[in-house]
Amino acid sequence: MIDTIIDLTEPKKQLYDMKLEDLERWVTELGQPKFRAKQIFNWIYKKRATSIDDMTDLPASFREELKQKAVLATMKEVTRQVSKDGTIKILLELHDKSTVETVLMPHNYGNSVCVSSQVGCRMGCTFCASTLGGLIRNLTAGEIVEQTMFFQRMLDDQGDRVSSIVLMGSGEPLENYDAAMKFIDMISAAETLNIGTRHITVSTSGLVPAIRRLADEKRQITLAISLHSPFDDLRSSMMPVNRAWNIAQLIDACRYYWDQTGRRLTFEYALIGGVNDDLKHAKALADLLGDLPCHVNLIPVNYVPERNYQRTPKDQIRAFQDELNQLGINATVRREKGHDISAACGQLRAEQGRI
Ligand code: SF4
Repeated sequence: MIDTIIDLTEPKKQLYDMKLEDLERWVTELGQPKFRAKQIFNWIYKKRATSIDDMTDLPASFREELKQKAVLATMKEVTRQVSKDGTIKILLELHDKSTVETVLMPHNYGNSVCVSSQVGCRMGCTFCASTLGGLIRNLTAGEIVEQTMFFQRMLDDQGDRVSSIVLMGSGEPLENYDAAMKFIDMISAAETLNIGTRHITVSTSGLVPAIRRLADEKRQITLAISLHSPFDDLRSSMMPVNRAWNIAQLIDACRYYWDQTGRRLTFEYALIGGVNDDLKHAKALADLLGDLPCHVNLIPVNYVPERNYQRTPKDQIRAFQDELNQLGINATVRREKGHDISAACGQLRAEQGRI
């Protein structure tokens, strides 16, 4: 049974939004012993409860009080698409009727979940459907946790688990910095899903001050940069963020990230036919990255009906990758997941008219 918010004006606590220490503090304020927080956490993260009613080892009177003052699972599945390769994309409706996409990607090394960090996005990248309706709002950490738990419950049926997370769905996670970091703290905790920080990737369009802030935190997460062009004029035309912080400033911040964390960076490069997929782009990209410890992920762009971008032919993709490799840059072509469904970020939401 799913708990629903009946009165949105009630300041109910979202249990998925609380770290163990927050919950301990709160149950103590409610006059309960501190260990009740661990009991609740156990129900949420180990027994995968979706309703406060499930928490049968709590005193009945406290359960009633909890139901008055808190909510647990509130997201509803609007629609789902299942790819032949096992990728599952779900459109989830939040308590305020806005929607976000979350994707499960089974790999031979484990199950990866791609979560959204915002409803919509204001970054305006021209190859992305998530930004078509602009930014609606930030998600809370709890709403990002709930996306993950949604798929974890699905995997429970197969005796499997979420083993890695990518913050690469709709939204710019570093624009919703505090919630994104709280989410990471929460799902990496032993009491929750225990997903190691090295198995968590944050993708950014290039918010330089936030990259530097993240570097200073010295977390062991992987930072993925959406680069998509080695040339400022082209990148600015594809990604407005480049007008605020250009490529040189971005690469400086990436070097700083490497210096502070010792974590190799990932650069995402969406190949768009006739736009950024010429060998001159590959050469300039290799010059730009130089000796920075990194990996380049080449992504054949998904066709976005709202934009008129074409896919790069397969032999051109191979030539681009070979050029980078020969110039000493470690580059791979991302195995396409969910190509037969609307797996590009924002497409399902757009198709459902939920922008
Ligand atoms: S690619 Fe990412 S940052 Fe750019 S518009 Fe899409 S969701 Fe936003």
